[in-house]
Amino acid sequence: MIKFQSFLSSSSGNCTFVTDDHTHLLVDCGAGGKYITECMRRIGVDPHELSGILITHEHRDHIAGVGILSRKYDIPVYATEKTWDAIGESLGRFNEQNKRLAEQSMEFGKMTVSSFPIPHDAAEPVGYSFETSDDKFTIATDLGMITDSLFEALKGSKSIIIEANHDTDMLKNGPYPFYLKRRIAGEQGHLSNELCGRLCADLAKTGTETIWLGHLSSENNRPELAYQTVSAILHELNEKNVILNVLPKYWIA
Ligand SMILES: [Zn+2]
Ligand SMILES: [Zn+2]
Repeated sequence: MIKFQSFLSSSSGNCTFVTDDHTHLLVDCGAGGKYITECMRRIGVDPHELSGILITHEHRDHIAGVGILSRKYDIPVYATEKTWDAIGESLGRFNEQNKRLAEQSMEFGKMTVSSFPIPHDAAEPVGYSFETSDDKFTIATDLGMITDSLFEALKGSKSIIIEANHDTDMLKNGPYPFYLKRRIAGEQGHLSNELCGRLCADLAKTGTETIWLGHLSSENNRPELAYQTVSAILHELNEKNVILNVLPKYWIA
């Protein structure tokens, strides 16, 4: 069985701990080293035991704490080739020996980790799936749209963290400048609650049992609104057995 704990999830920072009880991984690290170290302490795992930090893309809310964590605990960091190019020097002093390429399929102990492309305005952004003989867990945020190949990668996940970034009306009427609104709503931007709802209903048909909504915008969404919108669509489309949750912005207040 694959377990996970989101340490933080929003447009301002993302980090998820994933484990099969033997191998421990982090996906992204968009927070200070101190916060992540405290989260690790709470789940009772020594950061030295992390087998890797898997980076989805180079945006600050995903990599802010990667350099310090890797340096302090000597943790390998995985990213796609163009993501590494885009990261450049932004991890600070970094041990090149810990630089790894995120392959399409990687083995970590008994877990198979797959990376798959996501439509987002970064160099070579990916999501990650974690599979054991009887489980599949997927993290897919920062999605401008849902393509056929993306759906192929997500389907069959028993549990999933999926982006419910914004409410379309809140974004439209909110404080952001026009260019930013267009970027967020665009096909390389972020997923709305409504599109997320339809995706969740489609995923439920492929065996998805538990859904965690994540990467909510602080400006253009509210947790209750994201939950209600997705839940209403699931009901409308007759997918009533899915367990729906919203990830908090911070695990530790
Ligand atoms: Zn992001
Ligand atoms: Zn991003």
